[in-house]
Amino acid sequence: MMKLYCARWVLPVASAPISDGAVAVEGARIEGVGARAELEERFPSVEVEDFGEAAILPGFVNCHTHLELTAMRGFLEPVEGDFFAWLRKVTIARGTRMTTEDIYASAAWGAVEAARAGVTCVADASDACACALKALGEVGLRGVVFQEAFGPDEREASAKFDHARAKIESLRGGETPLITLGLSPHAPYTVSAPLLQMLARYASDERLPLMMHAAESEAEQLLMLRGVGPFADSFNARGIVFNSPGVSTVRHLAQTGILDTRPLLAHCVRVDDADIETIKNHGASVAHCPKSNAKLGHGRAPLAALLRAGLAVGLGSDSVASNNTCDLLEEARFASLASRAAGDTLEGGHMTGADDALRMLTRDGARALRLEHLTGALAEGLEADLVAVRLDAAHQLPVYDAASALVFSSSGRDVLLTVVAGREVFRGGRVTTVDEDELRARVRDIARRLSETAV
Ligand SMILES: [Zn+2]
Repeated sequence: MMKLYCARWVLPVASAPISDGAVAVEGARIEGVGARAELEERFPSVEVEDFGEAAILPGFVNCHTHLELTAMRGFLEPVEGDFFAWLRKVTIARGTRMTTEDIYASAAWGAVEAARAGVTCVADASDACACALKALGEVGLRGVVFQEAFGPDEREASAKFDHARAKIESLRGGETPLITLGLSPHAPYTVSAPLLQMLARYASDERLPLMMHAAESEAEQLLMLRGVGPFADSFNARGIVFNSPGVSTVRHLAQTGILDTRPLLAHCVRVDDADIETIKNHGASVAHCPKSNAKLGHGRAPLAALLRAGLAVGLGSDSVASNNTCDLLEEARFASLASRAAGDTLEGGHMTGADDALRMLTRDGARALRLEHLTGALAEGLEADLVAVRLDAAHQLPVYDAASALVFSSSGRDVLLTVVAGREVFRGGRVTTVDEDELRARVRDIARRLSETAV
């Protein structure tokens, strides 16, 4: 049966805001967007729900996260000033202290948090994609799950490639109409150049979307440009053969063919104008993760320059181990404020504003994932991925402009309803698709075990 969701403000993002608007949903699809009075006339016998002083807008797209690390929210703070130690601790804890069931519960709890905060689409990177596929599927979110590949020693490139390919092949049956598979060579410092070349070719041949961490930290930059720093020291100590390319990360990714796959690049903190031009010329996109970059002390991606170049820039929470929340409204506010604090300006000299942030949260996030034909806007024919956000709380009133109230006064905790492909996954303060209490207990148990012994 068709349903009409109504609110004081409807922000389709792809078109102008509508006062006293409505969105008509039938099955998984949007059948109409417009003024409530018009849609009530067009569809006379539909079920109507009015959210009152609220905004209805496209569901948020989280362009970069690692849901499986949700149980490590706050766990890594003792080492977060040292990125190498941080990576080591997360890898050991994830690899040796968490069972497959733990990883699933951790990912599912992350998906619950996302649904609660209005996220309808998630780009997740994982070394255990079966868990992520299951978690997103059970909570009912849309997404792309990128299977990670590792292998810094170039002598092992062929063996590591075979391992990655076998993993992808074993996961192919787990895809659904909402959740597809991708490939993620983890990072320039964990994947050798020959392995990058093999993975790039494989992703192109198999038409797998590709995501990669890129230009995130100073340690990575030192390794790429000069072959020194903590990553180089670790490789030397462990007898790993890794040849520094002597160029920037982005140039390296161009030389190894990774950019030919039009990848999604997470972070892009350490990029200059030439790198941005290279990203643009290859049609690659960017997952901007400002809170994670700030929390780990990596710096700030040049957001305004990325936007001025016309790149598809979406927002990513990154894992909550480095954020510490998956709250895309908060991420959008932080992105805008950090860009303003640095004095950056967009075309025409204006500061990154609420409308820019809302586009990154929705339509541009979908573009970055190449899913704009399905989601990221409210328009007839698109899938019904939408959220209703209250705008009548003490911290929001008065509202002069709905986009501004959403980005600068609201958070994920103000979300009232989350709908994915027409299915309500969060309503009335509860995620409706999974047993939240059971998952809560499991995540607490994982945390108790993680904190019992030193990693
Ligand atoms: Zn990441």
